[in-house]
Amino acid sequence: MDEYLQILGFVITGVILLYFGYTLFFHIGKGHASGSDIKNKKTDIEGEAGAPRTCPVCSIRLLHGERVKSSAFPAIGKTDRLMYIAGCYYCLEGDRLRVCPVCGAVLNYDENLIARFFDKPGRSHVHVLGCSRCRGPRH
Ligand SMILES: [Zn+2]
Ligand SMILES: [Zn+2]
Repeated sequence: MDEYLQILGFVITGVILLYFGYTLFFHIGKGHASGSDIKNKKTDIEGEAGAPRTCPVCSIRLLHGERVKSSAFPAIGKTDRLMYIAGCYYCLEGDRLRVCPVCGAVLNYDENLIARFFDKPGRSHVHVLGCSRCRGPRH
């Protein structure tokens, strides 16, 4: 019985080590990706390096690799770009309501969120300004 517990102990230690190793690796990998990806992805409007990990349209938490469909426009200033956010796999498929976090309107499929994409090295983030309804179609 003691032997069994010992093995169990090893397994648990192994899992913990694996978890910490993964977290560390993941953070380092992420930092590298956001710097180099942006430069190479000028034509690729889907899958920005700084894509939010929570869908801003239906607020579902996305898993690694699940992306929010969005179109980014060329830089206006030095650091920020205008971005249209369509949504993620779940809300575009109609599984979840697409809601504007600013005005609370439920969006149709041709309506998008309008956001600013701050493109800072290693730390880019998306700030939602509103939707096609509360911001107007072109702003
Ligand atoms: Zn979504
Ligand atoms: Zn709105």
